[in-house]
Amino acid sequence: MSGNLKYEAIKASGRLPSPKGTALQVIRLTQKEDVSSQEIVQTIKADPGLSGRVIKIANALVAYQSRPIASVADAVTVLGLNSVRQLVLGVSLLEGSLDGTCRGFDYPGFWARSLLTAIAAQNLMLRGNLGSPEEIFILGLMAQIGCLALATTHPQEYASILERAAAGSSSLVELERAELGLDHNQLSKELIADWGMPLIFQKLVLYHEEPDQAGFVDGSRDWRLLHVLHVANYLSMLCFAPEQSRRKMAPRLMLLATRLGVEANELTELGDKVVKEWHDWGRLFDMPTEVVPPFAQLLEAVPLAPEMVDVEALHDGAAAQYKLRILLVDDDRAILMMLQTLLTQAGHAVTTARNGAEALRQVAVSMPQLIITDWVMPEMDGIEFCKALRQNPQWRNIYVFIVTAQESIDRLVEAFHAGANDYLTKPINFKVLGARLCAAQRVVQLQDELESDRQQLRRFADELAASNQRLQQMALTDVLTGLYNRRYANEYLERQWALAGRNNQSLSCMMVDVDRFKQINDTYGHKMGDDVLKQVADVLRKSMRKQDVVCRLGGEEFLLVCPDTKTEQAYPYAERLRQNIAASNIHTTARDFHLTVSIGVASKDPALQNVEALLQLADKRLYAAKQAGRNCTVAS
Ligand code: GH3
Ligand code: MG
Ligand code: MG
Repeated sequence: MSGNLKYEAIKASGRLPSPKGTALQVIRLTQKEDVSSQEIVQTIKADPGLSGRVIKIANALVAYQSRPIASVADAVTVLGLNSVRQLVLGVSLLEGSLDGTCRGFDYPGFWARSLLTAIAAQNLMLRGNLGSPEEIFILGLMAQIGCLALATTHPQEYASILERAAAGSSSLVELERAELGLDHNQLSKELIADWGMPLIFQKLVLYHEEPDQAGFVDGSRDWRLLHVLHVANYLSMLCFAPEQSRRKMAPRLMLLATRLGVEANELTELGDKVVKEWHDWGRLFDMPTEVVPPFAQLLEAVPLAPEMVDVEALHDGAAAQYKLRILLVDDDRAILMMLQTLLTQAGHAVTTARNGAEALRQVAVSMPQLIITDWVMPEMDGIEFCKALRQNPQWRNIYVFIVTAQESIDRLVEAFHAGANDYLTKPINFKVLGARLCAAQRVVQLQDELESDRQQLRRFADELAASNQRLQQMALTDVLTGLYNRRYANEYLERQWALAGRNNQSLSCMMVDVDRFKQINDTYGHKMGDDVLKQVADVLRKSMRKQDVVCRLGGEEFLLVCPDTKTEQAYPYAERLRQNIAASNIHTTARDFHLTVSIGVASKDPALQNVEALLQLADKRLYAAKQAGRNCTVAS
């Protein structure tokens, strides 16, 4: 049986909650085309009990207005005929159903809860400036009327359904559909349609438990009305839930409220106000109300369960797989919690800060690639934060979203000037966030790739420089002894020659040649000769002064360059070297040798034209030393 047919059958049973007496008369009157408000006022007035209650409620409803309502006629003037009619209907239903036969259905509790939903909806509506708060009040009151109707028409079955739903095997709606052919939302909708309420009201009631099924356009007026009713219903469920469940439900309430742009601080205030008004109404109508702890306590640091956020919405369309380090900056806990849960679920690494100053410290620690920052925050707002961030060249490339409550062109321009890359408007829509996130991911990924290319280039350049340096060293070093080679000796000597000329300093050089080296080669072989040359090089290296340079010119011939050294100093120095070598035990694998060297010393002199002349002179004196019998130094 379809829902509609089933409804006809239930209706035919005659057991549905229905307006009686005066209320019924009022409903009938308003269904007539030519009814005057005068007639309706008269009808209500004829029932003093009812008019008294209508005036009471009307005053409670318009408490924010200054003029008190003293009569039914006043109520019609202030609230409008429709609202008064619906109020009469609500009051009459309420009073007709304060008890019933369905075991396990809490009749007074049901109405108390409906009243709480109505008050919450009214307050949310006022806050969002969404239109007439009276109408949403009545909708809040009626939203769950289907439950009452099912309890009234099927007391036995419904008692068992309630019991099974409480045990948690299936949801209430599923059980209702399976057992009774339609659920309480469908029934509520049919009832209020019957009572002549507009189509949009019927839809709001039908979908208020599952707003995403309504297919309303995100952020549209209908969407917001539906969410007002949804949040209001959830808030009243939370107030009636046992204490441990309340703590579990609180984060979801915060999340839902942020979708209406109500942040945690505001929700705390609004929740307390709603509960207070509810208690006032309860006293007015002698209705039992629950004791609810302050919302500040209810909403205290409760983590959001990951499954509560709709990650699917974020990935709507082509999902970018690039994971980001994201820093969230917001003074509102609800927003931080929601975004952190959502973005962490989506695979990003998320850190948070509560204001701009804290965020700046956090940036240095977590090196985010994307920052999503609120605009209005204590201590340092989003704009100042952006400006401060951009002053550090290291943080120039961090992608920044600024979140603003309203979309004003001037404000947006200000945000972009301060260094923001993009903006989001509150309440944050997940699909829009997802799309903008994709764009940010593309930019960050590109930047990362550029950076890694740059680093690779830098590595190549470093390697090239190192290998060039090695090559250069090789080109200037003698392989056998590790001393500088002839090429370096020439270059170095040229430099020292020029330097000495400029600074008017002396410069000496020594040509050192091993005596009768050929014999070693001839007797012990070339390999042994090499070993001996290495050792001679070592002795020279160890014996010379730090400021001098020793090179191997070739064969068994060495050159020492001694800057800032006159012949008078060079000669004893050469002698010391010669004696050191003569005294050294040249050790090889085969045997130890005692060698001598001959040395020719020459110093820079105005008579010498250039380096070649200096070297020639040193060579000439070396030859003289050989002639003089070897193992000696010739310096003049
Ligand atoms: P003098 O006292 O007159 O200098 O006699 P000498 O034998 O030391 O001089 P000479 O110039 O006649 O011989 C030098 C020898 O050094 C000739 C060559 O075989 C040898 N020699 C040159 N370069 C190397 C080398 O790299 N390794 C070895 N083992 N021998 C070399
Ligand atoms: Mg020699
Ligand atoms: Mg020689």
